[in-house]
Amino acid sequence: MTKYILAIDQGTTSSRALLFDLDGKPVAIKQEEFQQHFPADGWVEHDASEIWDTTLRSCRSVLAELNTTWKNIVSIGITNQRETSVVWDRQTGEPLYRAIVWQDRRTATLCNSLQDRHADEIQQKTGLLLDPYFSATKFKWLLENVPDARKKADAGQLAIGTIDTYLLWKLTNGKSYYTDITNASRTMLFNIKEQSWDIDLLKLFEIPQHILPEIKDCGADYGCTDKSILGGAIPISGVMGDQQAAAFGQCCFEEGEAKSTYGTGGFLLLNTGTNVVYSSNRLLSTIAYRLDGDTYYAIEGSIFMAGATIQWLRDKLQIIQNANESEGLARQVPEDLSVYLVPAFTGLGAPYWDPRARAALYGMTRDTGIPEIVTAGLMSIVYQTKELIDAISADGAKLSQLRVDGGLSANNFVIERLADLLNCKVHRPKITETTALGAAYVAGLQSGVFSSLDEIKGKWQKDVTFEPTKDETWRKTQYTGWKTAVRRTIS
Ligand code: ADP
Repeated sequence: MTKYILAIDQGTTSSRALLFDLDGKPVAIKQEEFQQHFPADGWVEHDASEIWDTTLRSCRSVLAELNTTWKNIVSIGITNQRETSVVWDRQTGEPLYRAIVWQDRRTATLCNSLQDRHADEIQQKTGLLLDPYFSATKFKWLLENVPDARKKADAGQLAIGTIDTYLLWKLTNGKSYYTDITNASRTMLFNIKEQSWDIDLLKLFEIPQHILPEIKDCGADYGCTDKSILGGAIPISGVMGDQQAAAFGQCCFEEGEAKSTYGTGGFLLLNTGTNVVYSSNRLLSTIAYRLDGDTYYAIEGSIFMAGATIQWLRDKLQIIQNANESEGLARQVPEDLSVYLVPAFTGLGAPYWDPRARAALYGMTRDTGIPEIVTAGLMSIVYQTKELIDAISADGAKLSQLRVDGGLSANNFVIERLADLLNCKVHRPKITETTALGAAYVAGLQSGVFSSLDEIKGKWQKDVTFEPTKDETWRKTQYTGWKTAVRRTIS
C-alpha cells in the first residue's frame, strides 16, 4: 500500500489539504474557500467553524481522491495563517465568537495608547512591533468583549489560541491543547529569548497564563486524530506558521538562507541562525523553527503590494486581461526604463513606514504606453525586495542566497530582474507549494520518514536558477531612479 504524509494548509482565504508521497512530492490537493466577514471599518473576521468544516472536508476529499484511507497516512503536518485568534468553549468545542483575523485593526487605539511606554520592551522581548496585527490585543479584546469569556476563563472553561491550536483541538476531539513555537512567536506574548510565555506581557494584556496552550517544538508529538475525524488515529507530528513553513519547505535551514514568497503581498524571511537580530528598520525578529530544542531565528519583512499591483493593473486600470500577459509586455520594453510606479496604495512599508503616502507614477514621456506602465508595476516588486534586503543588511543580517515561491514567482521577467538588481543568484523550486511542503517535511522528519535536514535538503529540487546579467551601472541608475520616485511619494 502506498503511504503518504497529509499536510493541512489553513490559509487566509482557503483551507487546503495535500497528500505528499514519502519522497516529499505532492500527489493530490483539495481546497475550499470560505467567507470573509467585514463587520465594521477595519474589522476582519472568519467563522472558526467554517475554517474547521472546510479543513475537514478538504482532508476527507483528498483521501477520497487517491482512494486511500487513514491507515496509509504516516503522519499529519499543519501549517496555518498566523496571528488570527480564536476563543472557544472547552466543554463543547464551539467557538464563542468569530476568529479575529491578522488583518483586523480594531485594537489600534489600544496599541497607540501603549506605544510610548511599552513598544521598546515588547520589541526586546518578542522581536515584534506593538501592533494590532499580532494576537495579544486580539486575545484581550475577546476576553473583554465576548459575553462570559472572562468568567469562563476564570472557571477553566475557556480555550484561546491561534488557528493551529484550534485545529489541533478539533482534530483530536479536545485532547490536544498545544501550539508550536513559530505560532507562539507571533502572539506578542512570547519571549523569544527565554522561549516561554512572558509573565510581564501576560500581565500587561491581562491574559491569564492558565488559559494558554502549551508550546512545543515544530516537530513534536501533537497527539492523534480522533477516529471520528478521518476513521482512525493518525499521529500529528508537525506544526508551523505559514511563512516559517514556506521557509522550511524552501530548505532555508541555515543562517543567511532566505525565501521570498510573492502572492498578493510579499513575505521575505531570512534565517539569522541561532542569534536574534533586532531591527532598527521596523522589521520583525521571529522564530524560524525549533527542532529537538535547537532554535533558529529569522528576520522578516513584508511588501504590502506585490501581486496586488498586478491585480490593480488588471481590474482597475484594465490594461491587461490577466497576470500572465504582463511578462510578454515587459519583454517589449527597453531594460533601462525610467518610468516608475510606486505602489503606495495603502502607504509605504519598510523601511519608510509612511501610512499616508499614496501611489504615484513617475517619468512618463509621449512614448509611455501600456507596456511601460505594466513593466513599471512589475519592477516595483523587484525594487521593493531590494529595499527590504537593504534594510535587513543594515540591521546586521547577511543574505547568502534567495529562493522564491508564490503565484507571482512564475513570472520569469520579475525573477530575472530580481537577480540582476540584487546581484545574486535567485532559485525557484520545482515544487512551489512550499508552505504545505514545509509542513510535510517537518511532520515527516518527526515521524521518521526523513532521517535528517540533510536528507530533506537532498530532496529539494530547483526548477531554475536565475543568474545576474546586468552591470553595476545598470543597477545604480535604475535603483537611483526608484529611490528618487519614492522620495517624491513620501507624504
Ligand atoms: P495568494 O496566495 O496571496 O492568493 P498566489 O500565490 O496565488 O497569491 O499568487 C497570486 C498573485 O500573483 C495574484 O496577485 C496575481 O496577480 C499574481 N500573479 C500570478 N501569476 C502572475 C504572473 N505570471 N505575473 C505577474 N503576477 C502574477
